[in-house]
Amino acid sequence: MLYRKNPKNGNELSVLGFGCMRLPMNENGTIDEERATKQVRYAIDHGVNYVDTAWPYHMEQSEPFLGRALAHGYREKVRLATKLPSWMVESREDMDRFLNSQLEKLNTDHIDYYLVHALVGVLWDSVEKLDVADFLDKAKADGRIINAGFSFHGAGKDFNRIVDAYDWDFCQIQYNFLDEKNQAGTAGLEYAASKGLGVIIMEPLRGGTLASHVPPAVKEIWDEAPTKRTAAEWALRWVWNHPEVTVVLSGMNEETDIEENLTVADKAYPNSLTEGELQLVKKVERKYRELMKAGCTGCRYCMPCPQGVNIPLCFELYNSLHMSGNADEAKFFYAAQLSGVLSVGEPAYASQCVQCEECLEKCPQHLEIPTLLESVVEELEGPDLEKRVAITKQVFLKK
Ligand code: SF4
Ligand code: SF4
Repeated sequence: MLYRKNPKNGNELSVLGFGCMRLPMNENGTIDEERATKQVRYAIDHGVNYVDTAWPYHMEQSEPFLGRALAHGYREKVRLATKLPSWMVESREDMDRFLNSQLEKLNTDHIDYYLVHALVGVLWDSVEKLDVADFLDKAKADGRIINAGFSFHGAGKDFNRIVDAYDWDFCQIQYNFLDEKNQAGTAGLEYAASKGLGVIIMEPLRGGTLASHVPPAVKEIWDEAPTKRTAAEWALRWVWNHPEVTVVLSGMNEETDIEENLTVADKAYPNSLTEGELQLVKKVERKYRELMKAGCTGCRYCMPCPQGVNIPLCFELYNSLHMSGNADEAKFFYAAQLSGVLSVGEPAYASQCVQCEECLEKCPQHLEIPTLLESVVEELEGPDLEKRVAITKQVFLKK
């Protein structure tokens, strides 16, 4: 494992951090605790020393899970990060209430890296008015938190003013080769680093889409490289190539992915990609832009939809239709998953959207969700939907 220094405090942090947002799950939607615990501990045993969670992850079960997973000496081996759910904060007292509850859930007396979660401009204005600065100062002074930071999903124009508004120790931004100009982007990364902040990166694989279901047209470009790497390795190496980056979080839930990420992290030196390799990544980026229809990262901040639409899943299948070009497969899985057959749950079709627009301002990617859902209906539903659902029942439920 390689380590990079947080310039603000000198902490040596593993370049790979373990994100606890997409842990392995049981069929009933709960965390597969035995498997997830083994995975977290395996990563720590192999050098990971930064573990990240948050209040809402896994329907508020990620923090208590992690509290248990870090027992038996693992807590002392890591810098633990969690986040104040800024959108749920209505008063200054709420901030202490959330933090104290998180310390209890995580079974610890301090949080090493505490972030004000998922800031966008207006959310920052609201917590700033409620005196989040006083909260962070006092929580640092009494030792409940060691470092204060924020995670950001807003528009680039709001990033610098948030960086300048408090004496932060670090920040967390979404960054990958498709997001150079999205949210904080490269300009934000460089600005935060110029102010001496450690920079934690989330979504290096854009919710996994840069690593799995790689479209054939993109694979062809990767295959041109003289040095063969998987799509995940290319995407991670591109992020680590930036010297301003301190830690890259990966939401790992497959043992093979953990193994691959640990191996790649061993070579994650800054400025280690050649000019030719950087050009190749640019070429892939251009191809993705040609193919993608909805820039959804699967973060689920738009959920739950009051009408029960599974927004991220609709967009995942919609993108998969356009990236793979395999309409039969995309339509089959749309019927199986959105009907509830595979999840044994309620239907969650795009056509259930009533255009209430409640989800619009929650989306950090600023997607026109209701409009995009209309396209999903057009391309993935249609008159044969019920027939397809019947087939998936035969396949999966044997009825
Ligand atoms: S606009 Fe549609 S998808 Fe968004 S919250 Fe309303 S019903 Fe749900
Ligand atoms: S639509 Fe937006 S908020 Fe919802 S999962 Fe996708 S990126 Fe996240």
